[in-house]
Amino acid sequence: MPEMFPEFRQDDAAVVAWQTTFAKQQVCCSLFRMKILLCLSIVLTALLAPAQHLVKQETFDAIATEYSGEVAQENTRRIVEYHRIQGSPMMASVAEQVVLPRLKTAGLEAKIEQFVSDGKTKYGTYTSPMGWDMHGGELWVEGVKTDSVGGAQDFKPIMLCRYADVPMCVSTYSKGGEWSGEPVDVGSGTSDANYQGVDVRGKVALASGYAANVVREAVLKHGAVGVVIYPSAGDRPDHPDMVRYNGIWPHAEELEKTSGGFQISRNQYDMIKSLMRQGAVRVHGKIDATLGPGKLTLVHAYIRGTEHPEREVLITGHLDHPKWSANDNASGSGAMIEAARTLQTLIAAKKLFPPKLTIHFMWVPEYFGTLAYVSNHPEARRCDSAWDDPRNKPDAFSEGKPCIIANINMDMVGEDTVKTNSRFYFTRTPDSVPSFLNALMADVLEQTREANLYAGTGTRNYWLPESIAYAQGSDHDVFLGLGVPATMLGHDPDWTHHTSEDKIDKTDASEFKRVGVFACAAAQYLASSAEKSDWALLASTHGMRITELASRLAYDLQRPTPAPPASDHRMKTNRELLKIETELLELDVSAGKDATNTAPHLLEYNRRHQAQSGGPHRLTLLPLDASAFEGTSAEDRKWLDAQEARFASDSEGLATQLNFGLVSFEAVNLMTGRRSTEEIAEMLSAEYLVDIDQAWVDRLVSILEKQKLVGIKQIAAGN
Ligand SMILES: [Zn+2]
Repeated sequence: MPEMFPEFRQDDAAVVAWQTTFAKQQVCCSLFRMKILLCLSIVLTALLAPAQHLVKQETFDAIATEYSGEVAQENTRRIVEYHRIQGSPMMASVAEQVVLPRLKTAGLEAKIEQFVSDGKTKYGTYTSPMGWDMHGGELWVEGVKTDSVGGAQDFKPIMLCRYADVPMCVSTYSKGGEWSGEPVDVGSGTSDANYQGVDVRGKVALASGYAANVVREAVLKHGAVGVVIYPSAGDRPDHPDMVRYNGIWPHAEELEKTSGGFQISRNQYDMIKSLMRQGAVRVHGKIDATLGPGKLTLVHAYIRGTEHPEREVLITGHLDHPKWSANDNASGSGAMIEAARTLQTLIAAKKLFPPKLTIHFMWVPEYFGTLAYVSNHPEARRCDSAWDDPRNKPDAFSEGKPCIIANINMDMVGEDTVKTNSRFYFTRTPDSVPSFLNALMADVLEQTREANLYAGTGTRNYWLPESIAYAQGSDHDVFLGLGVPATMLGHDPDWTHHTSEDKIDKTDASEFKRVGVFACAAAQYLASSAEKSDWALLASTHGMRITELASRLAYDLQRPTPAPPASDHRMKTNRELLKIETELLELDVSAGKDATNTAPHLLEYNRRHQAQSGGPHRLTLLPLDASAFEGTSAEDRKWLDAQEARFASDSEGLATQLNFGLVSFEAVNLMTGRRSTEEIAEMLSAEYLVDIDQAWVDRLVSILEKQKLVGIKQIAAGN
């Protein structure tokens, strides 16, 4: 296993503290039976006493008083006015005209950074998008004049989409131009099978798949002039007027042949189908846009640390997404501006100590901007221990060098939970990156919940926040791939996600306040405490891990008879992990009484987790884009498809069950060059309670090796 920083958590420290109190009371009661009622009342008082938290209550209260849910919402309101598409000039506009000025007004050190985005430069396995200068677009359905008796009647044209009305009804990265043709329904439209016996040449493909894949099939391969995307039957059928967000993402070499696309609602689709049944119809699309070389625009803001400015707590949020799209993720961006202002204001007013480490805020084009940033900044790396770094200049961390101690990624944080029928969550780190961050976030979340915060103009919605297992889909993935402990803050399920219904009216100033205070308090703690000597956090971290391991064992203990052999195997692994964690908890609790340095046990922890055998190690940044598997042999493709089917994912929002994207991410993140494929298989099975054997990992490694994404490391004994 790789080097690991231990984890921390609070709940169990509270349990230990309470048990100690309880034990004392029991002695008291046995000696003085007549005082039993008094003893009981003491115990009850101990139980009901306000919980101790890692963040000092006065620090928390100062943040909670200063942070404005309304201001975060107001920031969001300004951001949504821009059609914020990655790599496009509109992203630069919102960065320059909204984010940067607000940071500067708040007295923050802030700047803009740009990277090439031209449809061919790659960051990790992702090809940067082309710049897209968008001005307008319309889609009409028209009848066809026929002379034959009984032919289609000419009818008044119907407008299906206009950019000015619903900006996301034009597929992003659509090529400018005008086309019209007979619509041909090709189902999902993403595979050759959809086009067998169907002629779309010179016509318009009507499809339900992802626009990028539909255009590659329908336009590039089969000669359609354009595409119109409709919602699949199972996609939120109870909202038949919603329009979905969808994009074409042409690469530079496809520029000549690519075309444009539109999204229509379910009701509009039903109307077209009914017209098609009545007679010949045509759809007519017109788009005013230019595709060309562009830039990825990022905004940085810093509150510099006083002791270790080179070490940073990194707060990220993606600034991109279509115009009006509010919760995703103008909300995270707006909440971050207010978080930066809040901390800066409190420090300037001497209501908070300046942080010892730097707090770095970074607004990014999702994935592309973050991957470009870490590609160009090798100092964006894990602190305190080496990580098998896939970048060109793997300059391992050592004391005094810049690094990131943790990443808090804010993506969809402002939801009105009643209107969107969603709940707030933060994600824990996967087993490949064990961290104190999980326990810290759990404790600060509890403290935030207890504070019962709301904004004057916000709702009084009851708050049911959750800590959930690692889920993917935003910029925290990139940092986990570099071994940096990272969490995502968001809401799910949110039926408005990636649709025309995700608008400012679905946000809530109270939710902004709760999530903003939560993020600020956690960041302030991370940047202010001596990271290695918080024994309560350390004990809590082990406690949280022990709870997790115990629940995995409980799951397998309920297995059917006869038990599948795989469950025996993974129970063994989880029991071993539980033993180590329990011993470490004991070590920490005893060391915490008098020692101030956790280094000896860190070494022990690392020693126990470090395989010495050599093994596969990754050669590229994570996460992997789907294109990473392009050009694989038919046999490998078949295996990959079978895995996609075996670990089937949800189509919308956060995956609620294990999917191939997640299991392959974790498999590759465990490929540090220090674990055998057998060990990786054992760890995956133990973590996800599935049957993954060495042959499975070997197969994945062999495919990734052929794609030059994974290599094999030999490690000499004793190293
Ligand atoms: Zn998002």
